Amino acid sequence: MAPPSADSLAGLERSEIEALCARLDQPAYRARQLFRWVHVQRAASYEAMSNLPRAFRERLAAEHPVQTTQREHEAPSGDGTRKLLLRLADGEAVECVHIPDTPRHTACLSTQVGCGVGCIFCASGAEGVVRNLSSGEIVEQYLQLQAGTQDRLRNVVVMGIGEPLHNVPALAKALRILQDPEGVDLGARRITVSTSGPPRGFEQLLREGLRVNLALSLHAASDALRSRLVPGGGAGTVADLQGMADRWFEATGRDVTFEYVLIQGINDRDEDAEALARLVGRHRNINLIPMNPVSFAPALVAPLPEHCKRFADRLRRDGTVVNLRRQRGDDVAAACGQLRLHSKKQPLPPPAPS
Ligand code: SF4
Repeated sequence: MAPPSADSLAGLERSEIEALCARLDQPAYRARQLFRWVHVQRAASYEAMSNLPRAFRERLAAEHPVQTTQREHEAPSGDGTRKLLLRLADGEAVECVHIPDTPRHTACLSTQVGCGVGCIFCASGAEGVVRNLSSGEIVEQYLQLQAGTQDRLRNVVVMGIGEPLHNVPALAKALRILQDPEGVDLGARRITVSTSGPPRGFEQLLREGLRVNLALSLHAASDALRSRLVPGGGAGTVADLQGMADRWFEATGRDVTFEYVLIQGINDRDEDAEALARLVGRHRNINLIPMNPVSFAPALVAPLPEHCKRFADRLRRDGTVVNLRRQRGDDVAAACGQLRLHSKKQPLPPPAPS
């Protein structure tokens, strides 16, 4: 499950780079220079780091590549969504997405190759989990997305391929790197981790002390239905998720959002809305997400827009804040994991140079 090789420079915290510089007999300020080259100037190789001694760069290059991921394919959508397929050093692939919601621009990042949770509406889980991503492979998704746009990606959602709480050490390290004020300098409030709620991973995340936003993927108001929709990977029960929401709020002061993918005829009945309204309790934030089509389950579709609106209106009657999402990027296989699945069947054209 672990990533195969030494982490890239992009996946090292500043304190680790300081230790590396000390070991290579370099003054402490070199660590700050290196960190800024990677995260602010977004240098993809040591060649570009012209204010560092050549011998030092050569020794670094022998231990840590600056980045290990390659942009293999870029899929822009008519609605502005931009999806990147990145090739990893061992030949695996992951996706990351730039979601423009003017004036906010968001990077959506993956944490695993594949996913063991196997949600029935998600292409990422269709073939199980292959391995965890390293912290560098997570950070590099952000850097690769940012390198391809003039817009500043000020928000991060960890909602791409994989269950983030099955890979907490690398996730937490990547988020600390992205929050470093000498680098990308993302505020914790601008980061959201979305999870199906495996209880052990949740405890690990709490111990990391990150004060990021949490989104809990509910998708059903009963355990019986939820275990059909979110079948594997030790995902928590509905009661577990309610408990997690309370504990996250107590530990961080951050509101928790519940996520609910709407699937026609499965979880979109009036009684589903009633039950959902009861169980969100004091955490009155729900993201309703009309299902994106997936090629392997053509019978699963989103309800009609007017039906989605009626479902949302029922929840709002009790004061719940409902964000009814637009379906985005259907033309670029926007459903999580679709592009990776396509690339396994046939090669995709390379991206234009950035
Ligand atoms: S929705 Fe998330 S947790 Fe479920 S299979 Fe897809 S990536 Fe995994």
